[in-house]
Amino acid sequence: MSLTVMRLNRVKQEFEPNYYVSLGELDPMTQTSSGKPRSPKGRARRAHELLADEYPDAECELDFNNAYELLAATILAAQSTDVGVNKATPRLFRRFPTPYDLAEVDPEQVEPYVNTIGLFRNKSKSLVGMARMLVDEYDGEVPSRMEDLVRLPGVGRKTANVVRSVALGLPGLPVDTHVTRLSNLLGLTDSEDPVVIERQLNAVIPAAERGDFSLRMILHGRRVCIARRPQCDNCILNYFCPSAL
Ligand code: SF4
Repeated sequence: MSLTVMRLNRVKQEFEPNYYVSLGELDPMTQTSSGKPRSPKGRARRAHELLADEYPDAECELDFNNAYELLAATILAAQSTDVGVNKATPRLFRRFPTPYDLAEVDPEQVEPYVNTIGLFRNKSKSLVGMARMLVDEYDGEVPSRMEDLVRLPGVGRKTANVVRSVALGLPGLPVDTHVTRLSNLLGLTDSEDPVVIERQLNAVIPAAERGDFSLRMILHGRRVCIARRPQCDNCILNYFCPSAL
């Protein structure tokens, strides 16, 4: 658990001893008489309604033209900024426009195209490995099933969920550092494990809304609920957020 979350939770424990009890409640009544959602499900639904109003056009900030390009860009974006990846990918995709082009070179030949991005040597290996598996096992297409996507080199559940929700229009809820932090602060989970958080959020967010929910939580985490200095006074969720200061 991050220092911010621990600090905010300590504050909440002092002033609201039942906070941790409320994390686990499954009461079908999701609203109090004051209109505050009181269960994790109620808070998740209300948070998404408000975030949808605040960020109606939230979209993935990586540039791409097809599922292959988004898959490659998302592999490159691990522990790097989307802005930095977007600067490198136009040249990369001009040289390697399909998985077949990328599959036939060695990783060293990819490195000059991505060497402005952190961990570029490992990521070059992942890109070539990913392309070879697409060509060898999936006819050069990006598979849509989670169990197939996570077999690809450099692809974990977060990347697979980005590809499923953004490029393929399928249910997928990417859990990154912002989704993890906000989900804890909002009392939607008490876990720091992205797999557990994804499962818990999937249980309360309708399938068709999962990708947008993640994108909006990420935007809110970047703009308002900032890791070291959450702007609770300016937060549209503050009237029911258990961690509001
Ligand atoms: S009120 Fe908003 S900014 Fe403050 S901790 Fe909750 S979600 Fe974050």
